[in-house]
Amino acid sequence: MQSSEQSSEQSGGQRSEWAGRSVVVTGAASGIGRATALKFAAAGARVLVADLDGGGAEKVVRDVERGGGTALAVVGDLSDPQVVDAVVERAVAAFGGPDVLVNNAGIMDRMSALGETDDAEWERVLRVNLTAPFLLTRAVLPHMLAAGHGSIVFTASEAGLRGGAAGAAYTAAKHGVVGLVKNLAVMYRKQGIRANAVAPGPTRTRIHVDADPQAHGPALISPLIGANIGRLGSAEEQAAAIVFLASDAAAFVNGAVLPVDDGWAAV
Ligand code: NAD
Repeated sequence: MQSSEQSSEQSGGQRSEWAGRSVVVTGAASGIGRATALKFAAAGARVLVADLDGGGAEKVVRDVERGGGTALAVVGDLSDPQVVDAVVERAVAAFGGPDVLVNNAGIMDRMSALGETDDAEWERVLRVNLTAPFLLTRAVLPHMLAAGHGSIVFTASEAGLRGGAAGAAYTAAKHGVVGLVKNLAVMYRKQGIRANAVAPGPTRTRIHVDADPQAHGPALISPLIGANIGRLGSAEEQAAAIVFLASDAAAFVNGAVLPVDDGWAAV
């Protein structure tokens, strides 16, 4: 079975810019990462699916292969430098590049206000949402620099744009992601590397908030979110924006943080 994108590209006789490209997507077993991996693969890219969830990652690989595409999974916790090295080594060995890195894997905090945030919540949320993308980007950069090109897209969040969308740890981590994106864009633009982010609004995925709704943080934040969001987005809508930012169509877009949120950031 072919995807509609593959069919239309082939019938139009045009070669997709993604044909044969090497793309790494983290958090690709579920939600936004899964939709992004499927979209790149349908366009002809060879996709490394990196995730903690082995069953989910292998299923995405099978879904890609069923569509005539090419993917492989590397399973592990991306906050572990050994897993990061394994991801990059497998991608380079199997697919070359990488041409594109999508730093998407992430977890929510407990919506805790700073005074209620224990060390474990702080360290885990910062480690997964900010340190893991740092480690992976650092590991991929030498390959992109050697190739003279590369595109890195991060999944930030509305919580990277404002103070009223999550708890202290997630808000700090996603603001950190925005800072990384802008600094990368400045530091590496002369070397042909672009870095951008999407800032999703609420999107239907499996992401999970383990919060006591009576606690200070969630009780304060929930009404702020409820009053300002529009509709729930789909993972595919986020994936479309991620693929655009990675693509040659966005060749002059660097250091941008694109809200994909039905106007929430505009409120
Ligand atoms: P999801 O839970 O459906 O998918 C996240 C994936 O990341 C899962 O497959 C999970 O196993 C993986 N993952 C988590 N920690 C990992 C780790 N340490 N190592 C490897 N893999 C790990 O959630 P999603 O909504 O698709 O989340 C994707 C990104 O979108 C996250 O960065 C999240 O912060 C961001 N985001 C989501 C929303 C939303 O409303 N869904 C809004 C704003 C931002």
